[in-house]
Amino acid sequence: METKNQGFNTKLVHAGDFSDAFGAAVPPIYQTSTFAFKNADEGAARFAGQEAGFIYTRLGNPTIHSLEQKLAELENGSGAIAFASGMGAVSSLYAALLKNGDHMIGSSALYGPSRSLMTSYFKDFGIASSFVNTADLDAVEQAIRPNTKLIYIESPTNPTMVLTDIQAIAELAHEKGILLAVDNTFSSPYIQQPLDLGADIVLHSLTKFINGHADIVGGALIAKDFKLVSLLRKTMAYFGANMDPHQAYMVIRGVKTLALRVERASENAQKVAEYLSAHPKIAWIKYPGLPSFTQYDLAQKQMKLPGAMISFGVKGGLPAGKKLMDNVQLALLAVSLGGVETLIQHPASMTHAGMSAQDRLQAGITDDLVRFSTGIEDAEDIMADLDQALARI
Ligand SMILES: *Cc1c(COP(=O)(O)O)cnc(C)c1O
Repeated sequence: METKNQGFNTKLVHAGDFSDAFGAAVPPIYQTSTFAFKNADEGAARFAGQEAGFIYTRLGNPTIHSLEQKLAELENGSGAIAFASGMGAVSSLYAALLKNGDHMIGSSALYGPSRSLMTSYFKDFGIASSFVNTADLDAVEQAIRPNTKLIYIESPTNPTMVLTDIQAIAELAHEKGILLAVDNTFSSPYIQQPLDLGADIVLHSLTKFINGHADIVGGALIAKDFKLVSLLRKTMAYFGANMDPHQAYMVIRGVKTLALRVERASENAQKVAEYLSAHPKIAWIKYPGLPSFTQYDLAQKQMKLPGAMISFGVKGGLPAGKKLMDNVQLALLAVSLGGVETLIQHPASMTHAGMSAQDRLQAGITDDLVRFSTGIEDAEDIMADLDQALARI
């Protein structure tokens, strides 16, 4: 069914659907590495790109293609490429768009491995980078060099909850002929659609909200311009960073409930954030749904909902934060986010331990920062769990 002009929820359920010979209700798993041609002419036509159809699963596969169509429609892009993981998408993004002698600007609190991949690997291929607070447009403008080819941001950032005005930074980038890529993992397309705000490329770790069930790893790039989609796809195929058909099937299944899950998780997070902000043992809290949030107005303008992610500090710093993580019983002490289950983690000793202490501080990742990914359990149970954990610190 054609879903391009239908609503977001209809796209979640039906975009990318195709029917097979048996009328399967959902895209079947095409667990095959290769696709036989009817004859030599057909094979030649497919390789020459004169005929649509599949050749080899690293290059494309019906189940993966179905997911890619769905993701492209959800982000209003002209095409999407699925990857084995979010980092598969990040490495292909860098390799496709940056050459020796180029420069890129990233948000200072970019996902830890996205930043260290650039500063410890791509640097050795002669690619320079600057990491700045992209919430500050003047700082971004000052960091632009004649050889800047890419601005890569997250909004909100992980785990510091700093928002960047996507529309404003897209205008600045385009004035200077620079491409803008946005890691939209933290928000999901239900909350914000960066391509509509002017971005050129959207990146997702599908592992998080899009799949939503903490049972697979996956990534995607979605672009507005079809030429960019082709370039990114070619890079994915060379790197062998392709998704597997079974993985694609799992994401197709998981993403159908994205809106329902994100609405419930965001509603729960709002309650948890309000509870935490009134708690005497909490030193500070950052949640886009609280009027005390420094970028509350931007959140209202740019995001449909404040989302499921909360960052906060416990009075007593690192030891108190660690104790909190040991005391919780419902929340899982685990990295990752965006699943149906509530997770809690400590970035300075876990996800962002690979950064130097100085870089962490510059990025706003203080030692007392606790990151909370609110699940879809009953809000009362999540709060009761935090309550008993905080009482025992
Ligand atoms: C998890 C994550 C990634 C990396 O994705 P993987 O699927 O783990 O490879 C990238 N960006 C953000 C914001 C993430 O949370």
